Amino acid sequence: MTVLDLPPTPAAFAKATWDDIASFYDELAERALTAESVEAWLQAWSTLEELLTEAAALAMIAYTIDTGDAAKAADHLRFSTEVLPKAEERSVALARRLIDSGFTRPDMETTIRRFRTASEIFREANVPIFAEVEEHAATYQRITGSMTAVWDGVELPLPQLQPFLKSPDRSVRERAWRSATGPYIAQRDTLASLFDTLFELRQRAAANAGFANYRDYSFPSKFRFDYTPADCERFHDAVEQTFVPAVERLYAERRRRLDLDELRPWDLQVEPQRNEPLRPFATERELLQRGRAVFERVAPELGAEFQRMIDERLLDLASRKGKAPGGYCETLHFRGRPFIFMNAVGLVDDVNTLLHEAGHAFHAFASHPLPLIWQRHPGSEAAELASMSMELLAAPQLAGPGGFYGDAEGRLAEIEHLEDILIALPHIASVDAYQHWLYTSGQGHDARARDAAWLRTRTRFERGVDWSGLEQERVARWYRQLHIFLYPFYYIEYGLAQLGALQVWRNSLRDLPGAVRRYREALALGATRSLPDTYAIAGASLTFDAPTMGALVAQVEERIASLRGGLPERG
Ligand SMILES: [Zn+2]
Repeated sequence: MTVLDLPPTPAAFAKATWDDIASFYDELAERALTAESVEAWLQAWSTLEELLTEAAALAMIAYTIDTGDAAKAADHLRFSTEVLPKAEERSVALARRLIDSGFTRPDMETTIRRFRTASEIFREANVPIFAEVEEHAATYQRITGSMTAVWDGVELPLPQLQPFLKSPDRSVRERAWRSATGPYIAQRDTLASLFDTLFELRQRAAANAGFANYRDYSFPSKFRFDYTPADCERFHDAVEQTFVPAVERLYAERRRRLDLDELRPWDLQVEPQRNEPLRPFATERELLQRGRAVFERVAPELGAEFQRMIDERLLDLASRKGKAPGGYCETLHFRGRPFIFMNAVGLVDDVNTLLHEAGHAFHAFASHPLPLIWQRHPGSEAAELASMSMELLAAPQLAGPGGFYGDAEGRLAEIEHLEDILIALPHIASVDAYQHWLYTSGQGHDARARDAAWLRTRTRFERGVDWSGLEQERVARWYRQLHIFLYPFYYIEYGLAQLGALQVWRNSLRDLPGAVRRYREALALGATRSLPDTYAIAGASLTFDAPTMGALVAQVEERIASLRGGLPERG
């Protein structure tokens, strides 16, 4: 029985308006759901979502590759502001029908649980509140996006100060650091009152849904079924006991290498190892060929998947005029293929971005055989496990035949990556701990109390840097953390995934083929299993405790020392 008369490919939807799509949802909404018909109904709905999201993805890809083309911009805008939001609204209603039908199937349990939770916490009264939140979030982006600094007489957007923060000349990097921080100090009152509004709206939405505060609301709303606020607090404590002292050791070593009495905040990005940035590739073709050689060494199957992406033109990596900024990996659900977009210019960061996005791409390949669209995409904790593990699995393969680096360069790149991981965990813990305080302390509405709490939190998680006389500057840091304004509580996911990825990497140092096999098995599960199950199959655990973290920190420090030991001495 055919439930819907769907087109054979997403091309039919390329120019579709909502009116062209609505009738398919009408049919799904009206058709009787019985024990006999539900499976076919579900498959038809899934295929509709595949066709529609792929048409939308293709429009978004076309636009980001060529932002100057008015027709492409219009197509993308139509999907993102009209077709997809309306489809999403209708999907929520279909999900409710499915729940009400009592349908269940073992490989759909996680999906049904998400559907049910979304429906339970939904309140009509919160629709206008979240719309208002979006408007204020857009104001934050407008204010921070238009911040500039005058540098050598020229007005620059803040991201363009980045290279100067790495300058070997200390006075240059101090000036760059102060220039990048200044606009946030100047806008502190505006941003604080914007946060007052966001805070009040979010607490009200949580109360409407029957929760004591927005933190407690955020757990079910982010489908965090496998860990609790108390687990997050254990995570903060464990990071404080393990990663924080490791970073303090790393900073002491950095201070010695830079030959400084005190490490100031503008001394954290300069590379003491070298004066010139590494140049791992020059052209897009080199990036593709070398990337393929690296993935081939991680596993022949992954090399083959990456080659398929090259053959089918599913990569647009070089920075060009007219492209949108940033990088992403998007899934084409109907075709069962990923697409990677980047703005590579030949730097180490571009290699890391490719490894990261390729991890997402391998996830899309692995999970596509699952029959229904909702089974394939897990939450960020599992999605980032795929991407962050790939960064670490590939790191030791970057040097070598056909790769990006010679031996010494490869060692330096791997050391930097591992050091960045050590530094990231305390930052993640501080941003998460601070947000717990914001929404549960009873003082989150008070701008001065917020700034004071941030200082306490940072003091707890950051040691070995001399911040004396820079209190305002240190306070300004939280106003720059866009997640706190735009995506509250979305941050610890990166920490959990990074800890999982370190375990996959640790397995790979003993047995690369075995570690990759387990990694790919976990990817193939998509969203069909709980987080602890998915992590376990990958050869890792969801980690909140100090002993596990401490062992990982020791392994990272050991690896850094051994990589450093193989470096030629520098005069
Ligand atoms: Zn990612």
